Amino acid sequence: PRYFDYNATTPLAGAAKLAWVEATEAQWLNPSSPYRQAAGVRVRYEAARTSVAQRIGVDAGRVVFTSGATEANNGVMRYWAEVLGPNARVGINPTEHPSVIEAAKAFLAERVLWLPLLSDGRVDEHAVQRLIADGDLAALSVMAANNETGVIQPWQSIARLCAEVHLPYHCDASQWVGKMPLSGLGDCTYVTACAHKFGGPKGVGFMVLPAAGVEPCRLLYGGAQEAGQRAGTEDVAGVLSMVAALEHVTLGEPAARDAFIAELSRRLPGVQVIGEGVERLWNTVSLIMPEFQSVRWIRSLERAGFLCSAGSACSTGKSTQSSVLRAMGLDSASAGRVLRISSGAETTLADWYALVEALMSGYQALKAEAASSRS
Ligand code: PLP
Repeated sequence: PRYFDYNATTPLAGAAKLAWVEATEAQWLNPSSPYRQAAGVRVRYEAARTSVAQRIGVDAGRVVFTSGATEANNGVMRYWAEVLGPNARVGINPTEHPSVIEAAKAFLAERVLWLPLLSDGRVDEHAVQRLIADGDLAALSVMAANNETGVIQPWQSIARLCAEVHLPYHCDASQWVGKMPLSGLGDCTYVTACAHKFGGPKGVGFMVLPAAGVEPCRLLYGGAQEAGQRAGTEDVAGVLSMVAALEHVTLGEPAARDAFIAELSRRLPGVQVIGEGVERLWNTVSLIMPEFQSVRWIRSLERAGFLCSAGSACSTGKSTQSSVLRAMGLDSASAGRVLRISSGAETTLADWYALVEALMSGYQALKAEAASSRS
């Protein structure tokens, strides 16, 4: 099938697979073990950390390997709940991934201040500036780019603003890493990301923590691994595989996606692009389709050999609607007709045009079905 759901997950990159197999066969010792052979594994593991750190532009001591973005996002919210005072306000972007939203609700509860949103899905940067200038916030969480719409947040300027006043800033960069240049991420106090969005394996990720000098943000208690920030025997193969994937990413550009949008808009009147006119990830387009529910479009594409998604992967198939689209103020009828399409570096212009054809024949079939069920 033609895969158009890269924001949900990506296939394992060739280099990542080789690295995983090599590490599983040759680097399987526990890097903390006391013999010389284990020290060799430790060297490889720490070199992987240095590689991530250099790409982001931070000291290696700020990089911690995790089981993915969910764990790391939960960890940041729980940490803030512990170290910030009971009257602190934490600004959270309402279109964050559930791993931020639900963790913020659970750990910070009344201390959450939902940041105001523009109708295009970006946080209202001026309102955020005012909240920061007025000293109303003790910390801030705004993702780099949204998983459902691809809308890019003004995270670079938020990072700089926060750095000026030493306000802790967390940026969930799960959809950014592997698609966009990493420069600037080092300005954020916390960065979280997961490998499987950029050709690495599932269940591995990395995070950037604040430079030394603050109370450690301990994700898991136990052994002294990851400088005491996250206990547990290191997933050496997972980490080496993730870093191989990171070293081999090819950043794409939006031309093919935009050609698809132009062609589809010409042939299917009434289709709407969410976040049109604002900066979005080059690989993502979220469409409000005419007439039929997301799930019917998805099934029809699936029959034609195309894999697409609705809102977020985890809400597909359930009747609950995407919290991202709700936060953006989309009415529930429109939110129920959203198709999320996301490509990868391997996707060609021909694939995009084939998708237009599949959508057009799907539309005819759905209309015919609807007509015959009426008669
Ligand atoms: N944050 C964002 C923006 C995501 O798109 C995802 C992907 O599902 C996650 C966090 C969670 O990543 P994981 O499921 O690998 O922990």
